Amino acid sequence: MKFTKSFDAPNPIPEKGIRNAIKLMENGMLYRYGHVDNDITFDDDDPAHANESEVSKLELAFSQYTGHKYVVAVNSCGSAMFIALKAMGIQPGDKVFTNGFTFTAVPSSIVHANAIPVYLECNDQYVVDLDHFKEQIKQQPDVKYFILSHMRGHVAELDKIQALCDENNIRLIEDCAHGLGKRWNAEDHDNNFVGHHCEIACYSSQSHKMLNSGEGGFIATDDKQLAAYCILAAGSYEQLYKKHLSRPADDALFENIKFEVPNFSLRMNNLTAAILRPQIDLIDERIASYKEKHDRLIELLTGIEHIFIPEAVDNAEHVGDSLQFNLVDFSNDNVNDFVSRCADKGVKIQIFGIDDNARDFRNWQYSFDETPDLENTADIIACACDLRLPMTFTLEDIELIGTIINEVIDDMSLPSSVKLKKQSI
Ligand SMILES: *Cc1c(COP(=O)(O)O)cnc(C)c1O
Repeated sequence: MKFTKSFDAPNPIPEKGIRNAIKLMENGMLYRYGHVDNDITFDDDDPAHANESEVSKLELAFSQYTGHKYVVAVNSCGSAMFIALKAMGIQPGDKVFTNGFTFTAVPSSIVHANAIPVYLECNDQYVVDLDHFKEQIKQQPDVKYFILSHMRGHVAELDKIQALCDENNIRLIEDCAHGLGKRWNAEDHDNNFVGHHCEIACYSSQSHKMLNSGEGGFIATDDKQLAAYCILAAGSYEQLYKKHLSRPADDALFENIKFEVPNFSLRMNNLTAAILRPQIDLIDERIASYKEKHDRLIELLTGIEHIFIPEAVDNAEHVGDSLQFNLVDFSNDNVNDFVSRCADKGVKIQIFGIDDNARDFRNWQYSFDETPDLENTADIIACACDLRLPMTFTLEDIELIGTIINEVIDDMSLPSSVKLKKQSI
């Protein structure tokens, strides 16, 4: 029995996006602040926006989806986080809390701003450990920024983190690279997405995320001052801010600071926006499809000895374009054996804490002199499996993946009682 589909298949670009991209290439209007031809609109576009660029229309559509007042499109989520820190006034040598378990782009954005990441432990739900956060606030009262990463869509206890940040004057940024469409407190409210507990939320449209444009990112905020800074810093000069549909209306906000804000040239271009815009309408559909398959795979893996599936924190609704689980009572050799047996059967599983994985904090050497002491995080990522679940997978595929994992564990004939490693979660 072998699984043959690719675990790396990105989401395809909708027909509408392809058509618009071709039009743009034919007339060369790729620069977001360039001349706009009335032609380049979808049939169902608002006629009032006929003279707006693709990027500007995308920003508006994105803001309408997430419910933020202002959105700026940039070239990546890493750039979005960098600009967010700059907008908040970060200075060289400032410290920034962030997850010990996340992707290397997060601490890199902090280093890019000449600041220093302070890493927080991850708990067995794969999110920031609140007790460790509280302890660190006490020990390092000079840390006044926090990029909270919803790594692989695992959302921490947002209300409590926000309250702690408020009490301690810590400015919060949410890394929503994997947070688009994820709800907080879904039962109480209609449109309560993550990304609203902070001052600035940052998103990605890199190919492995909910929206696919190869590369791309968004900065979203309700604060008009921060929005003006971000628009200018992303690369809007002179009076080009006027070509933004999703911006604060007051020109003075821009005029007052525009000679003080560097132009980092991190803009998104129209081609990227053209292929993204029709995907906004597909987010809810994609979420439903991911969720069905993710939930089924959890059912199939639940109860298997040696597999621990982290539960979402109360109020967080999980959307699964990937699944994570931990191997319990596995030695390093067992872990490697498991991964290679699964790979032999076509099921590609990544371990976060092995080799050169970019999600292993020990590999972020550019950000510290001494490896941070994150014992829990190290334990968890040593046995944490990451399984991408692309849109191309069907429910039947999920059944097969579940069966293969089950069989591999069986075949390994592991003694059930043995405690081979320190870890027990
Ligand atoms: C992908 C990712 C990013 C970075 O996104 P880019 O658009 O590639 O810069 C940041 N955080 C997390 C958790 C990610 O998975």
